[in-house]
Amino acid sequence: MPANSVIIGGGIAGLSAAWELHRAGRPFLLLEAAAQCGGAIASRPRDGFLPEAGPESFLAAKPAAAELCRELGLGDDLIPPLPNPAGAQVWLAGRYVPLPAGWRLLHPSQLPPLLDSPLFTPATRTAFADHWNDNTTPPADTESVADYLRRRWGREAGQEIADHVVGPLLAGVYGGDIEQLSAAAAAPHSATRGGGEPVREPNAPMFLTLRTGMSSLVEALLRQLPAAAIRTGQPVTAVEAFDGGYCVRLGSGESLTAAAVILAAPAFRAAEILPPLDPALAAELAAIPYASSLNLNCAFRTAPAVPAGHGFLAVGAAPLLACTFAHQKFAGRAPAGAALLRLFYSDATCAWPDARILAQARRDLAACCGITMAPDWCELQRCPRALPQYTLGHARRQAAIALALTRHPGLHLAGNAYHGVGLPDCIASGRAAARAPR
Ligand SMILES: Cc1cc2nc3c(=O)[nH]c(=O)nc-3n(C[C@H](O)[C@H](O)[C@H](O)COP(=O)(O)OP(=O)(O)OC[C@H]3O[C@@H](n4cnc5c(N)ncnc54)[C@H](O)[C@@H]3O)c2cc1C
Repeated sequence: MPANSVIIGGGIAGLSAAWELHRAGRPFLLLEAAAQCGGAIASRPRDGFLPEAGPESFLAAKPAAAELCRELGLGDDLIPPLPNPAGAQVWLAGRYVPLPAGWRLLHPSQLPPLLDSPLFTPATRTAFADHWNDNTTPPADTESVADYLRRRWGREAGQEIADHVVGPLLAGVYGGDIEQLSAAAAAPHSATRGGGEPVREPNAPMFLTLRTGMSSLVEALLRQLPAAAIRTGQPVTAVEAFDGGYCVRLGSGESLTAAAVILAAPAFRAAEILPPLDPALAAELAAIPYASSLNLNCAFRTAPAVPAGHGFLAVGAAPLLACTFAHQKFAGRAPAGAALLRLFYSDATCAWPDARILAQARRDLAACCGITMAPDWCELQRCPRALPQYTLGHARRQAAIALALTRHPGLHLAGNAYHGVGLPDCIASGRAAARAPR
Protein backbone atom coordinates (compact mmCIF):
# COMPACT_ATOMS: atom_id res chain seq x y z
CA MET A 1 0.00 0.00 0.00
CA PRO A 2 1.63 3.33 -1.06
CA ALA A 3 1.82 5.98 1.71
CA ASN A 4 -0.50 8.32 -0.16
CA SER A 5 -3.63 10.26 0.78
CA VAL A 6 -6.77 10.74 -1.28
CA ILE A 7 -8.76 13.90 -0.58
CA ILE A 8 -12.42 13.79 -1.57
CA GLY A 9 -13.84 17.26 -2.24
CA GLY A 10 -12.07 20.39 -3.50
CA GLY A 11 -13.86 23.06 -1.47
CA ILE A 12 -11.74 25.16 0.87
CA ALA A 13 -11.49 22.32 3.44
CA GLY A 14 -10.17 19.82 0.89
CA LEU A 15 -7.82 22.36 -0.71
CA SER A 16 -6.46 23.30 2.72
CA ALA A 17 -5.79 19.63 3.45
CA ALA A 18 -3.97 19.41 0.12
CA TRP A 19 -1.90 22.48 0.98
CA GLU A 20 -0.90 21.01 4.32
CA LEU A 21 0.14 17.69 2.73
CA HIS A 22 2.01 19.49 -0.06
CA ARG A 23 3.99 21.56 2.44
CA ALA A 24 4.88 18.41 4.36
CA GLY A 25 6.10 16.80 1.11
CA ARG A 26 3.50 14.03 1.40
CA PRO A 27 1.90 12.62 -1.78
CA PHE A 28 -1.83 13.15 -2.31
CA LEU A 29 -4.53 13.15 -4.93
CA LEU A 30 -7.55 15.45 -4.64
CA LEU A 31 -10.77 14.35 -6.34
CA GLU A 32 -13.43 17.01 -6.94
CA ALA A 33 -16.84 16.11 -8.35
CA ALA A 34 -17.53 19.48 -10.00
CA ALA A 35 -15.81 20.92 -13.06
CA GLN A 36 -13.83 23.29 -10.85
CA CYS A 37 -12.55 23.48 -7.28
CA GLY A 38 -13.64 26.02 -4.69
CA GLY A 39 -17.00 24.62 -3.56
CA ALA A 40 -19.04 27.44 -2.02
CA ILE A 41 -16.39 30.06 -2.87
CA ALA A 42 -17.35 31.84 -6.08
CA SER A 43 -16.30 35.39 -7.01
CA ARG A 44 -17.97 36.46 -10.25
CA PRO A 45 -16.10 39.52 -11.61
CA ARG A 46 -18.12 41.26 -14.32
CA ASP A 47 -18.07 44.64 -15.92
CA GLY A 48 -15.73 46.18 -13.30
CA PHE A 49 -17.91 44.83 -10.44
CA LEU A 50 -16.82 42.06 -8.06
CA PRO A 51 -19.89 40.19 -6.85
CA GLU A 52 -19.44 37.23 -4.55
CA ALA A 53 -21.89 34.35 -4.96
CA GLY A 54 -20.50 32.57 -1.87
CA PRO A 55 -18.49 33.86 1.10
CA GLU A 56 -17.50 37.53 0.88
CA SER A 57 -15.08 37.71 3.84
CA PHE A 58 -14.01 35.85 6.97
CA LEU A 59 -13.72 36.43 10.70
CA ALA A 60 -10.28 37.90 11.40
CA ALA A 61 -10.16 36.78 15.02
CA LYS A 62 -9.89 33.14 13.93
CA PRO A 63 -6.44 33.19 12.37
CA ALA A 64 -6.56 30.17 10.03
CA ALA A 65 -7.83 32.00 6.94
CA ALA A 66 -5.49 35.01 7.12
CA GLU A 67 -2.57 32.68 7.88
CA LEU A 68 -3.31 30.59 4.81
CA CYS A 69 -3.56 33.74 2.68
CA ARG A 70 -0.15 34.89 3.97
CA GLU A 71 1.48 31.50 3.32
CA LEU A 72 0.20 31.72 -0.26
CA GLY A 73 1.70 35.21 -0.71
CA LEU A 74 -1.67 36.98 -0.52
CA GLY A 75 -0.86 38.91 2.67
CA ASP A 76 -0.76 42.27 0.87
CA ASP A 77 -4.15 41.55 -0.70
CA LEU A 78 -5.94 41.18 2.64
CA ILE A 79 -8.23 44.15 3.16
CA PRO A 80 -10.49 45.20 6.06
CA PRO A 81 -13.99 46.56 5.60
CA LEU A 82 -14.38 50.24 4.74
CA PRO A 83 -15.32 52.52 7.67
CA ASN A 84 -18.93 52.06 8.68
CA PRO A 85 -20.29 55.22 10.25
CA ALA A 86 -23.77 53.69 10.48
CA GLY A 87 -22.61 50.58 12.40
CA ALA A 88 -24.42 47.26 12.07
CA GLN A 89 -28.10 47.85 11.36
CA VAL A 90 -31.38 46.01 11.59
CA TRP A 91 -34.35 46.80 9.35
CA LEU A 92 -37.30 46.64 11.72
CA ALA A 93 -40.87 47.81 11.12
CA GLY A 94 -39.93 50.14 8.28
CA ARG A 95 -36.82 51.78 9.69
CA TYR A 96 -33.14 51.21 10.35
CA VAL A 97 -32.22 50.52 13.96
CA PRO A 98 -28.61 50.11 15.12
CA LEU A 99 -27.56 46.73 16.50
CA PRO A 100 -26.53 47.51 20.09
CA ALA A 101 -22.74 47.89 20.39
CA GLY A 102 -20.93 44.79 21.61
CA TRP A 103 -23.59 42.26 20.55
CA ARG A 104 -22.11 38.79 20.07
CA LEU A 105 -24.04 36.01 18.41
CA LEU A 106 -26.26 34.98 21.33
CA HIS A 107 -25.31 37.47 23.91
CA PRO A 108 -24.97 41.20 24.48
CA SER A 109 -21.66 42.14 26.11
CA GLN A 110 -22.56 45.68 27.25
CA LEU A 111 -25.65 46.69 29.18
CA PRO A 112 -25.87 50.49 28.57
CA PRO A 113 -26.56 50.32 24.79
CA LEU A 114 -29.47 47.94 25.47
CA LEU A 115 -31.27 50.26 27.86
CA ASP A 116 -32.40 52.71 25.19
CA SER A 117 -32.24 50.51 22.10
CA PRO A 118 -35.31 50.95 19.86
CA LEU A 119 -34.85 47.30 18.88
CA PHE A 120 -36.56 46.29 22.10
CA THR A 121 -39.76 47.09 23.95
CA PRO A 122 -39.46 48.72 27.39
CA ALA A 123 -40.27 45.36 29.01
CA THR A 124 -37.33 43.67 27.28
CA ARG A 125 -35.00 46.53 28.22
CA THR A 126 -36.09 46.09 31.82
CA ALA A 127 -35.43 42.33 31.54
CA PHE A 128 -31.88 43.06 30.40
CA ALA A 129 -31.28 45.21 33.47
CA ASP A 130 -33.01 42.82 35.87
CA HIS A 131 -31.31 39.65 34.64
CA TRP A 132 -27.93 41.07 33.62
CA ASN A 133 -26.05 39.49 36.50
CA ASP A 134 -28.00 36.23 36.62
CA ASN A 135 -25.69 33.28 36.72
CA THR A 136 -27.54 31.30 34.06
CA THR A 137 -26.17 27.84 33.35
CA PRO A 138 -24.75 27.64 29.83
CA PRO A 139 -26.95 25.76 27.38
CA ALA A 140 -26.70 22.03 26.93
CA ASP A 141 -26.46 20.46 23.47
CA THR A 142 -30.15 19.59 23.77
CA GLU A 143 -31.32 23.19 24.28
CA SER A 144 -32.26 25.21 21.23
CA VAL A 145 -31.07 28.77 20.73
CA ALA A 146 -34.61 30.07 21.20
CA ASP A 147 -35.21 28.01 24.36
CA TYR A 148 -31.91 29.19 25.79
CA LEU A 149 -32.78 32.85 25.20
CA ARG A 150 -36.22 32.42 26.80
CA ARG A 151 -34.59 30.73 29.80
CA ARG A 152 -31.86 33.36 30.04
CA TRP A 153 -34.03 36.50 29.79
CA GLY A 154 -37.59 35.35 30.53
CA ARG A 155 -40.24 34.13 28.11
CA GLU A 156 -41.36 37.34 26.37
CA ALA A 157 -38.03 39.15 26.44
CA GLY A 158 -36.16 36.06 25.24
CA GLN A 159 -38.61 35.66 22.37
CA GLU A 160 -38.15 39.29 21.33
CA ILE A 161 -34.37 38.96 21.50
CA ALA A 162 -34.64 35.81 19.39
CA ASP A 163 -36.89 37.48 16.82
CA HIS A 164 -35.15 40.85 16.58
CA VAL A 165 -31.46 40.00 16.87
CA VAL A 166 -30.29 36.44 17.39
CA GLY A 167 -32.52 34.81 14.74
CA PRO A 168 -31.46 37.28 12.03
CA LEU A 169 -27.78 37.05 13.04
CA LEU A 170 -27.77 33.24 12.96
CA ALA A 171 -29.75 33.24 9.71
CA GLY A 172 -26.68 34.93 8.22
CA VAL A 173 -24.46 32.04 9.37
CA TYR A 174 -26.68 28.95 9.10
CA GLY A 175 -29.82 30.15 7.33
CA GLY A 176 -31.56 27.93 9.87
CA ASP A 177 -34.34 27.77 12.42
CA ILE A 178 -33.33 28.87 15.92
CA GLU A 179 -35.98 26.61 17.45
CA GLN A 180 -33.91 23.70 16.06
CA LEU A 181 -30.31 24.94 16.27
CA SER A 182 -28.39 23.74 19.32
CA ALA A 183 -27.32 26.79 21.33
CA ALA A 184 -24.18 25.04 22.54
CA ALA A 185 -23.14 23.93 19.05
CA ALA A 186 -24.28 26.86 16.92
CA ALA A 187 -22.65 29.57 19.02
CA PRO A 188 -20.14 27.81 21.26
CA HIS A 189 -18.28 30.94 22.35
CA SER A 190 -21.23 33.20 22.60
CA ALA A 191 -23.61 31.71 25.11
CA THR A 192 -21.67 32.96 28.08
CA ARG A 193 -20.53 36.56 28.13
CA GLY A 194 -17.03 36.66 26.67
CA GLY A 195 -16.44 32.99 27.52
CA GLY A 196 -13.70 31.62 25.28
CA GLU A 197 -14.48 33.92 22.33
CA PRO A 198 -11.49 34.54 20.05
CA VAL A 199 -9.71 37.65 21.26
CA ARG A 200 -9.65 40.66 18.95
CA GLU A 201 -7.00 43.37 19.32
CA PRO A 202 -8.50 46.81 19.94
CA ASN A 203 -9.14 48.47 16.55
CA ALA A 204 -8.41 45.23 14.70
CA PRO A 205 -10.97 44.62 11.95
CA MET A 206 -13.64 42.04 12.68
CA PHE A 207 -13.57 40.74 9.09
CA LEU A 208 -11.04 40.52 6.28
CA THR A 209 -11.39 39.79 2.60
CA LEU A 210 -9.15 39.67 -0.45
CA ARG A 211 -8.79 42.68 -2.72
CA THR A 212 -9.64 40.64 -5.81
CA GLY A 213 -12.34 38.50 -4.22
CA MET A 214 -12.47 35.28 -2.23
CA SER A 215 -11.85 33.14 -5.32
CA SER A 216 -8.29 34.54 -5.35
CA LEU A 217 -7.63 32.21 -2.42
CA VAL A 218 -8.74 29.18 -4.43
CA GLU A 219 -6.77 30.38 -7.47
CA ALA A 220 -3.60 30.85 -5.39
CA LEU A 221 -3.96 27.34 -3.94
CA LEU A 222 -4.45 25.85 -7.40
CA ARG A 223 -1.42 27.77 -8.75
CA GLN A 224 0.82 26.46 -5.99
CA LEU A 225 -0.42 22.88 -5.63
CA PRO A 226 0.89 20.33 -8.15
CA ALA A 227 -1.62 20.33 -11.02
CA ALA A 228 -1.31 16.58 -11.52
CA ALA A 229 -2.54 16.00 -7.96
CA ILE A 230 -5.89 17.75 -8.55
CA ARG A 231 -8.55 16.02 -10.62
CA THR A 232 -11.89 17.74 -11.25
CA GLY A 233 -15.05 16.18 -12.66
CA GLN A 234 -14.32 13.07 -10.54
CA PRO A 235 -17.20 12.23 -8.19
CA VAL A 236 -16.31 9.59 -5.65
CA THR A 237 -19.03 7.00 -5.12
CA ALA A 238 -17.64 4.74 -2.39
CA VAL A 239 -14.79 4.17 0.05
CA GLU A 240 -14.07 0.59 1.13
CA ALA A 241 -11.49 -1.05 3.36
CA PHE A 242 -8.62 -2.55 1.38
CA ASP A 243 -5.34 -4.12 2.43
CA GLY A 244 -4.94 -2.13 5.64
CA GLY A 245 -5.89 1.07 3.80
CA TYR A 246 -8.72 2.13 1.52
CA CYS A 247 -10.11 1.61 -1.94
CA VAL A 248 -11.73 4.75 -3.37
CA ARG A 249 -14.28 4.14 -6.12
CA LEU A 250 -15.03 6.84 -8.69
CA GLY A 251 -18.17 7.45 -10.73
CA SER A 252 -16.10 6.76 -13.85
CA GLY A 253 -15.64 3.15 -12.75
CA GLU A 254 -11.98 3.70 -11.84
CA SER A 255 -10.76 2.74 -8.36
CA LEU A 256 -7.71 3.95 -6.45
CA THR A 257 -5.97 2.69 -3.35
CA ALA A 258 -4.86 4.97 -0.53
CA ALA A 259 -3.28 4.67 2.89
CA ALA A 260 -5.36 7.64 4.12
CA VAL A 261 -8.59 9.29 3.01
CA ILE A 262 -9.67 12.83 3.87
CA LEU A 263 -13.37 13.12 3.20
CA ALA A 264 -14.04 16.84 2.67
CA ALA A 265 -17.33 16.59 0.80
CA PRO A 266 -20.59 17.73 2.50
CA ALA A 267 -21.78 15.32 5.20
CA PHE A 268 -24.77 14.17 3.15
CA ARG A 269 -22.37 13.16 0.34
CA ALA A 270 -19.98 11.49 2.79
CA ALA A 271 -23.05 9.57 4.01
CA GLU A 272 -23.56 8.22 0.47
CA ILE A 273 -19.87 7.27 0.10
CA LEU A 274 -19.26 5.48 3.40
CA PRO A 275 -21.92 2.73 3.75
CA PRO A 276 -19.65 -0.03 2.34
CA LEU A 277 -17.05 0.86 4.99
CA ASP A 278 -19.21 1.74 7.99
CA PRO A 279 -23.00 2.01 7.71
CA ALA A 280 -23.34 3.32 11.30
CA LEU A 281 -20.93 6.19 10.61
CA ALA A 282 -22.76 6.92 7.35
CA ALA A 283 -26.05 7.08 9.27
CA GLU A 284 -24.65 9.64 11.75
CA LEU A 285 -23.45 11.77 8.83
CA ALA A 286 -26.80 11.49 7.05
CA ALA A 287 -28.47 12.87 10.19
CA ILE A 288 -26.78 16.28 9.80
CA PRO A 289 -29.45 18.40 8.10
CA TYR A 290 -28.63 21.13 5.58
CA ALA A 291 -30.44 24.34 4.68
CA SER A 292 -30.44 26.05 1.31
CA SER A 293 -30.12 29.74 0.61
CA LEU A 294 -30.25 32.14 -2.28
CA ASN A 295 -28.50 35.41 -2.92
CA LEU A 296 -28.85 38.01 -5.60
CA ASN A 297 -26.21 40.58 -6.52
CA CYS A 298 -27.72 43.70 -8.10
CA ALA A 299 -25.37 46.00 -10.04
CA PHE A 300 -26.12 49.66 -10.74
CA ARG A 301 -23.67 51.40 -13.12
CA THR A 302 -24.92 54.73 -11.80
CA ALA A 303 -25.34 54.43 -8.06
CA PRO A 304 -28.80 55.28 -6.74
CA ALA A 305 -28.93 56.93 -3.31
CA VAL A 306 -28.09 54.02 -1.00
CA PRO A 307 -28.54 54.30 2.78
CA ALA A 308 -25.28 54.70 4.76
CA GLY A 309 -23.43 51.67 6.08
CA HIS A 310 -22.56 48.14 5.07
CA GLY A 311 -26.13 46.88 4.85
CA PHE A 312 -28.72 45.47 7.21
CA LEU A 313 -30.29 42.42 8.77
CA ALA A 314 -33.97 42.20 7.91
CA VAL A 315 -36.55 41.51 10.63
CA GLY A 316 -40.11 40.63 9.66
CA ALA A 317 -39.39 41.16 5.94
CA ALA A 318 -39.46 37.48 4.90
CA PRO A 319 -38.32 36.05 2.60
CA LEU A 320 -35.60 38.75 2.73
CA LEU A 321 -32.99 37.93 5.40
CA ALA A 322 -30.35 40.60 4.86
CA CYS A 323 -28.80 42.96 2.38
CA THR A 324 -25.16 43.96 1.95
CA PHE A 325 -24.17 47.24 0.36
CA ALA A 326 -21.07 45.58 -1.10
CA HIS A 327 -19.62 48.75 -2.68
CA GLN A 328 -19.76 50.48 0.73
CA LYS A 329 -18.44 47.48 2.64
CA PHE A 330 -15.22 46.58 0.79
CA ALA A 331 -13.04 48.53 -1.64
CA GLY A 332 -13.09 47.52 -5.29
CA ARG A 333 -16.51 45.85 -5.35
CA ALA A 334 -17.92 48.30 -7.91
CA PRO A 335 -16.49 50.94 -10.28
CA ALA A 336 -16.41 54.56 -9.05
CA GLY A 337 -19.90 56.02 -8.99
CA ALA A 338 -21.54 52.58 -9.22
CA ALA A 339 -23.26 50.42 -6.59
CA LEU A 340 -23.44 46.69 -5.86
CA LEU A 341 -26.14 45.45 -3.48
CA ARG A 342 -26.46 41.82 -2.43
CA LEU A 343 -29.78 40.48 -1.15
CA PHE A 344 -29.99 37.26 0.86
CA TYR A 345 -33.17 35.16 0.80
CA SER A 346 -34.50 32.25 2.83
CA ASP A 347 -34.43 28.57 1.96
CA ALA A 348 -37.92 28.55 0.40
CA THR A 349 -37.01 30.98 -2.40
CA CYS A 350 -34.64 28.42 -3.97
CA ALA A 351 -37.72 26.81 -5.50
CA TRP A 352 -39.01 30.10 -6.95
CA PRO A 353 -38.60 30.88 -10.66
CA ASP A 354 -36.02 33.57 -11.46
CA ALA A 355 -38.64 36.14 -12.52
CA ARG A 356 -40.42 35.89 -9.16
CA ILE A 357 -37.15 36.41 -7.27
CA LEU A 358 -36.22 39.42 -9.38
CA ALA A 359 -39.66 40.96 -8.81
CA GLN A 360 -39.34 40.33 -5.05
CA ALA A 361 -35.89 41.97 -5.07
CA ARG A 362 -37.23 45.07 -6.83
CA ARG A 363 -39.95 45.38 -4.15
CA ASP A 364 -37.42 44.85 -1.32
CA LEU A 365 -34.95 47.38 -2.74
CA ALA A 366 -37.76 49.92 -2.95
CA ALA A 367 -39.16 49.20 0.52
CA CYS A 368 -35.89 48.91 2.46
CA CYS A 369 -33.51 51.15 0.49
CA GLY A 370 -35.81 53.52 -1.40
CA ILE A 371 -34.28 52.30 -4.69
CA THR A 372 -36.84 52.25 -7.48
CA MET A 373 -34.50 52.19 -10.49
CA ALA A 374 -33.89 48.81 -12.12
CA PRO A 375 -30.44 47.25 -11.65
CA ASP A 376 -28.34 47.12 -14.84
CA TRP A 377 -27.85 43.43 -14.23
CA CYS A 378 -28.27 40.83 -11.52
CA GLU A 379 -26.40 37.63 -10.61
CA LEU A 380 -28.64 35.04 -9.00
CA GLN A 381 -27.08 32.25 -6.94
CA ARG A 382 -29.08 29.36 -5.56
CA CYS A 383 -27.16 27.46 -2.88
CA PRO A 384 -29.01 24.16 -2.40
CA ARG A 385 -28.09 22.25 0.77
CA ALA A 386 -25.12 24.56 1.30
CA LEU A 387 -25.43 25.27 5.01
CA PRO A 388 -25.14 22.44 7.58
CA GLN A 389 -27.42 22.86 10.56
CA TYR A 390 -25.92 22.35 14.00
CA THR A 391 -29.25 21.15 15.36
CA LEU A 392 -30.13 19.74 18.79
CA GLY A 393 -27.77 16.87 19.56
CA HIS A 394 -24.98 18.14 17.28
CA ALA A 395 -22.31 17.59 19.95
CA ARG A 396 -23.58 14.07 20.64
CA ARG A 397 -23.52 13.35 16.91
CA GLN A 398 -19.93 14.70 16.66
CA ALA A 399 -18.87 12.46 19.54
CA ALA A 400 -20.45 9.43 17.82
CA ILE A 401 -18.69 10.35 14.56
CA ALA A 402 -15.34 10.76 16.34
CA LEU A 403 -15.81 7.38 18.02
CA ALA A 404 -16.69 5.70 14.71
CA LEU A 405 -13.58 7.18 13.09
CA THR A 406 -11.38 5.41 15.66
CA ARG A 407 -12.44 2.18 13.91
CA HIS A 408 -10.81 3.43 10.67
CA PRO A 409 -7.23 4.60 11.10
CA GLY A 410 -6.30 7.02 8.33
CA LEU A 411 -9.90 8.08 7.59
CA HIS A 412 -10.60 11.74 8.44
CA LEU A 413 -13.51 14.12 7.93
CA ALA A 414 -13.13 17.81 7.16
CA GLY A 415 -15.40 20.68 6.21
CA ASN A 416 -18.22 22.84 7.43
CA ALA A 417 -20.48 20.09 8.82
CA TYR A 418 -18.54 19.46 12.00
CA HIS A 419 -16.84 22.19 14.05
CA GLY A 420 -17.70 25.53 12.43
CA VAL A 421 -19.13 26.71 9.11
CA GLY A 422 -16.97 29.80 8.57
CA LEU A 423 -13.95 29.76 6.27
CA PRO A 424 -11.36 29.81 9.10
CA ASP A 425 -12.96 26.74 10.71
CA CYS A 426 -13.13 24.89 7.39
CA ILE A 427 -9.48 25.69 6.64
CA ALA A 428 -8.42 24.60 10.13
CA SER A 429 -10.40 21.36 9.78
CA GLY A 430 -8.73 20.50 6.47
CA ARG A 431 -5.26 21.20 7.79
CA ALA A 432 -5.89 19.26 11.00
CA ALA A 433 -7.11 16.25 8.99
CA ALA A 434 -3.93 16.35 6.91
CA ARG A 435 -1.71 16.53 10.02
CA ALA A 436 -3.51 13.69 11.80
CA PRO A 437 -1.60 10.42 12.00
CA ARG A 438 -2.42 7.89 9.34
C1 LIG B 1 -23.86 31.84 0.14
C2 LIG B 1 -22.84 31.57 1.21
C3 LIG B 1 -22.20 32.63 1.83
C4 LIG B 1 -21.24 32.39 2.80
N1 LIG B 1 -20.61 33.46 3.37
C5 LIG B 1 -19.57 33.24 4.22
C6 LIG B 1 -18.76 34.32 4.64
O1 LIG B 1 -18.97 35.49 4.25
N2 LIG B 1 -17.73 34.04 5.50
C7 LIG B 1 -17.45 32.76 5.90
O2 LIG B 1 -16.49 32.58 6.66
N3 LIG B 1 -18.20 31.70 5.48
C8 LIG B 1 -19.23 31.91 4.64
N4 LIG B 1 -19.96 30.85 4.17
C9 LIG B 1 -19.62 29.49 4.64
C10 LIG B 1 -18.39 28.93 3.91
O3 LIG B 1 -18.25 29.53 2.65
C11 LIG B 1 -18.54 27.43 3.72
O4 LIG B 1 -18.88 26.82 4.97
C12 LIG B 1 -17.24 26.81 3.22
O5 LIG B 1 -16.81 27.43 2.02
C13 LIG B 1 -17.46 25.30 3.02
O6 LIG B 1 -16.26 24.72 2.59
P1 LIG B 1 -16.15 23.14 2.51
O7 LIG B 1 -14.87 22.82 1.85
O8 LIG B 1 -16.45 22.54 3.84
O9 LIG B 1 -17.40 22.66 1.60
P2 LIG B 1 -17.79 22.99 0.11
O10 LIG B 1 -17.39 24.35 -0.27
O11 LIG B 1 -19.23 22.61 0.01
O12 LIG B 1 -16.92 21.97 -0.74
C14 LIG B 1 -17.20 20.58 -0.79
C15 LIG B 1 -16.73 20.09 -2.15
O13 LIG B 1 -16.94 18.67 -2.21
C16 LIG B 1 -17.32 18.37 -3.53
N5 LIG B 1 -17.98 17.06 -3.56
C17 LIG B 1 -19.23 16.75 -3.17
N6 LIG B 1 -19.48 15.44 -3.36
C18 LIG B 1 -18.35 14.90 -3.87
C19 LIG B 1 -17.99 13.59 -4.29
N7 LIG B 1 -18.85 12.58 -4.20
N8 LIG B 1 -16.74 13.39 -4.79
C20 LIG B 1 -15.86 14.41 -4.89
N9 LIG B 1 -16.17 15.70 -4.52
C21 LIG B 1 -17.39 15.92 -4.00
C22 LIG B 1 -18.24 19.51 -3.92
O14 LIG B 1 -18.40 19.61 -5.32
C23 LIG B 1 -17.52 20.69 -3.31
O15 LIG B 1 -16.62 21.31 -4.20
C24 LIG B 1 -20.93 31.06 3.18
C25 LIG B 1 -21.57 29.98 2.57
C26 LIG B 1 -22.51 30.23 1.58
C27 LIG B 1 -23.17 29.06 0.89
